[in-house]
Amino acid sequence: MSTEPVHRIGIDLGGTKTEVVLLDEKGNTRLRNRKPTPADQGYEAILDVVVELVEQARLETGQIYSVGIGIPGILDLETDLVLNANTTIMIGHPLRKDLESRLGCPVKIENDANCFALAEATMGAGRNFDTVFGVIMGTGCGGGIVMNGKLHSGHHGIAGEWGHFSIDPAGPQCWCGNKGCIETLISGGGLKKKFQAEHGQERTFPDIVEAARKGTEPEKGFFRQFLDDYGRALGGLISVLDPDAVVLGGGLSNLPELYAEGRQKVLQYTFHKKAKTPILQNELGDSAGVFGAAYL
Ligand SMILES: [Zn+2]
Repeated sequence: MSTEPVHRIGIDLGGTKTEVVLLDEKGNTRLRNRKPTPADQGYEAILDVVVELVEQARLETGQIYSVGIGIPGILDLETDLVLNANTTIMIGHPLRKDLESRLGCPVKIENDANCFALAEATMGAGRNFDTVFGVIMGTGCGGGIVMNGKLHSGHHGIAGEWGHFSIDPAGPQCWCGNKGCIETLISGGGLKKKFQAEHGQERTFPDIVEAARKGTEPEKGFFRQFLDDYGRALGGLISVLDPDAVVLGGGLSNLPELYAEGRQKVLQYTFHKKAKTPILQNELGDSAGVFGAAYL
């Protein structure tokens, strides 16, 4: 009898909710459910929720299954401990070992940006391309690299973490310890802080964009600088990886300017005079995390 998994269980362990999906051999959804993540009740409480949701999916499947989990952080491939998670209560814990001993089966864990990239490359906007770079531009900036349907995790598990590539040594201080990281310049959270530092006003990024579109200064200049930083960040990345497609996710991916004027900036900064890399909007929205976890 083959031991290849027939069904796939995916868990998206987010900062506020934890979601489970069970996919059958054809990729159809057999079960989907979510619960709040008890981030304020401690690490054990988070494990309890994950175990409970995996058990629900197991009851539903009579087949051999795999379990994949997406987390808002990085699992260090050398130490197997959680690093840099938004849900800080998980940092330093051996999440994989703990879940495997409670569930009694192997568990794959990846950060949520990698799950996003894998889902979009498998069943979303990047499904017809071999090498896909999935980019998250939300509160923070993350990314993942998928080649021929397989996630490239890298030696430490940080492959695709373009958000912490410093592109301006005189730029804003990043929480990671460096200055001018891409995340400080083109993520929703980074832009909010940057606008406040430059103009002394607390504004949300959608607010700034609306004013910029009406031609109001200083918002217009700020937004133009954002598109230039986006172009430099993504153009550099395309020069390194030369992917067949880039798929954008996260709240900022809804900005039409990223695919028009922003795209021109990207091509300007790419080391190829006639680069034609497609820059695509995601197709799966919020569902990418849980589907990507199932495909780990
Ligand atoms: Zn950083």
